[in-house]
Amino acid sequence: MGRMQDQTPNRITFSLDATDGKARTGVISTPRGDIRTPAFMPVGTAATVKAMMPESVAATGADILLGNTYHLMLRPTAERIDRLGGLHKFMNWDKPILTDSGGFQVMSLAGLRKLTEKGVTFKSHIDGSKHELTPERSMEIQRLLGSDIVMCFDECPALPADRDRIADSMRLSMRWAARSKEAFGDRPDHALFGIMQGGLERDFREESAEALKEIGFDGYAVGGLAVGEGQAAMFDCLDFAPGFLPKDKPRYLMGVGKPDDIVGAVKRGIDMMDCVLPSRSGRTGQVFTRHGVLNIKNARHQDDPRPLDENCTCPACRNYSRAYLHHVFRAQEMISGMLLTWHNLHYFQEIMQGMRDAIATQSFAEWEAAFHAGRARGDIDPL
Ligand SMILES: [Zn+2]
Repeated sequence: MGRMQDQTPNRITFSLDATDGKARTGVISTPRGDIRTPAFMPVGTAATVKAMMPESVAATGADILLGNTYHLMLRPTAERIDRLGGLHKFMNWDKPILTDSGGFQVMSLAGLRKLTEKGVTFKSHIDGSKHELTPERSMEIQRLLGSDIVMCFDECPALPADRDRIADSMRLSMRWAARSKEAFGDRPDHALFGIMQGGLERDFREESAEALKEIGFDGYAVGGLAVGEGQAAMFDCLDFAPGFLPKDKPRYLMGVGKPDDIVGAVKRGIDMMDCVLPSRSGRTGQVFTRHGVLNIKNARHQDDPRPLDENCTCPACRNYSRAYLHHVFRAQEMISGMLLTWHNLHYFQEIMQGMRDAIATQSFAEWEAAFHAGRARGDIDPL
């Protein structure tokens, strides 16, 4: 073993370095590099963060990205990616990757899926072919992809749902969590995260957390939120749900969100998040800045020589005017999606860095006040 190898951790660990109120900052160490928390994970659905080169994604400050089991199992298939050396090599991203379990996306195929105790059978949205996902198959696919952080296979009901439906679904997910752990096996250089369910119900969230802790995971996700309940209801749930989880493991809020959702979640004790919003919005001309949300196709930008944000150091802001970005968006030039996605991802990572620094220096409340004041200043387009 050379000296370099001795310095590379061969297992995944989490160190919680500082807290400020309920907000936390720390580092998840992995053999593929450190993940600074709180962390925002860009979404690379089909083995690419749309409109971005992998080195550009890294340049925005992302330590980890998310891949989708559902999409990759259908095309190009996990077996093909495995034969080609795994997802990191396939997509040229050598930092950590977290993969979802496929559960959430399969569940949203209403009418095309059948749910049993064993798992879910469904028809591909691409060609109608029939597939099965079970806890065991999801673990196999995520292992073939080479995912560093693997998610348990779970079921997530859409909200609102009645209490019986939420309880039945949560208990099924807990049985699947035990099967996921068993199938994952002993892989200390990879992590398996359990997923808490239970809707907005405090008693079910606690029951779910207890069941997951009994099984034992490397990290814990808060699932089943950001599914239509609205920000106020989500924050109400986050006021108690993370407190049921172990303090010494990372906590991941799945599928969130807008900048103010992210800040509110970190304030309530969340360490990791993912969302398609910055990349998807970049392609539709929606721009997030310190001062609010711009719609670059708005005519008020067509003669404006200023950058999107004069303080931003991303390539879109350093080198291009709002007038140019307006023009290439209206002309449907590809550089529009590239530059606006880069800016949005850069801005989201800047928020994360700001929160990490603020928590480390016990100034999260001041940082949060400045964040909200900047947005209230109002460089905002009607959408
Ligand atoms: Zn920028």
